[in-house]
Amino acid sequence: MTTRTYWLEHAWLGTYVEPGVVVEVADGRISAVRTDSPAPPPGAEALRGLTLPGLANAHSHAFHRALRGTVQVGSGTFWTWREVMYSVADRLTPETYHALARAVYAEMALAGITCAGEFHYVHHAPGGTPYADPNAMGEALIAAAAEAGIRITLLDTCYLSSGFGAPPGAEQLRFSDGDAEAWAERCALLKERDHARIGAAIHSVRAVPAGQLGTVARWAEERRAPLHVHLSEQTAENDACLAAHGRTPTRLLADHGVLGPRTTGVHNTHLTDEDIALLGGSGTGTCMCPTTERDLADGIGPAVALQRAGSPLSLGSDSHAVIDLLEEARAMELNERLRTRTRGHWTAAALLRAATADGHAALGWDEAGTIEPGALADLTTIALDSVRTAGPLPRLGAETAVFAAGAADVRHTVVGGRHVVRDGAHTLVPDVPQALAAAVEALRG
Ligand SMILES: [Zn+2]
Repeated sequence: MTTRTYWLEHAWLGTYVEPGVVVEVADGRISAVRTDSPAPPPGAEALRGLTLPGLANAHSHAFHRALRGTVQVGSGTFWTWREVMYSVADRLTPETYHALARAVYAEMALAGITCAGEFHYVHHAPGGTPYADPNAMGEALIAAAAEAGIRITLLDTCYLSSGFGAPPGAEQLRFSDGDAEAWAERCALLKERDHARIGAAIHSVRAVPAGQLGTVARWAEERRAPLHVHLSEQTAENDACLAAHGRTPTRLLADHGVLGPRTTGVHNTHLTDEDIALLGGSGTGTCMCPTTERDLADGIGPAVALQRAGSPLSLGSDSHAVIDLLEEARAMELNERLRTRTRGHWTAAALLRAATADGHAALGWDEAGTIEPGALADLTTIALDSVRTAGPLPRLGAETAVFAAGAADVRHTVVGGRHVVRDGAHTLVPDVPQALAAAVEALRG
């Protein structure tokens, strides 16, 4: 049995900051939590700052990281951005995607993220020919997460159509398995590992014909696996769905058995009151991706109403315009302030819950996201003495972390008891900026 001891100068214990906490780790899980420990005991590794449970990034498309900066030139919409995104998707191979994802997941570790939900749909070679291993791309992502030292839920995504009744476009052929049955057969070959779980995703109601939604939902149900779906990110999707099916995307998903407590709708931006009631009433989660939603001019989703209706909230960096879960957390609150011209829709504690326990639950890691015995030993330490965070009383560490800190303030990241980021340096990927630069360069057109 491998054991380690960490001493947390300040620990976030769900609703309050506790000074001087010892966390014992055995075989990757927290075996004991002891308070009233003003100094590190002999042999303990000190984590100075405020230690949170590890952050969960509930929605990622790793390859979108190659678009950073380049998509900020000029104007346009979500749909023109998508054309640029497709050009990068077209150039990915299992080798180049592995290198990029390893660097992106290392960037996530540096940002305190201990688990990523990878919404993965680039399955086959350009033109749609399967690789010799039909899961070569998914396996590349699982390996990349292991090398970067973080957990992954591979949300293998069914993507069959360019829009209601239309075949996939040329650039979408490599996303498609032909039909949902073939998608399910391929996914069944994926194996879970210590650091990797397998979930399912429906790309959107545009991309999976209504008659095949149930096949994906049943696949996830049989495995009790998470099921994610892009939902109502754009009003054009709602309009097309209403024209094709006479109902909203949410109603369509409800009618085909897709909604439920293991399902998460990503974005959930343009909803009717009935949609909100359907999502909340079924316990379907909502993953907000505020930095991407503002970057792509999507709009502001009704997260307050969704949560009130019963939809747990999680957070994702999605297109990786930036990778900073603390920024996602505060952006959800600050968007709501701008929209309503009132403050305090969520407490810092509630925002941290979305970034930790509820994010992990959305990815099928219910045993992560808290600092308590039995939980996975995933920890993120935020410096409270940086230029951004110095000054406030330590007992206001959560408020400081959420509303003033950022990824640059992450000092330590521990995953399963292993020290993946120590004093701001990745211990497994020696030069993350260089790895990112090389991987993005390899994909430049
Ligand atoms: Zn997405």
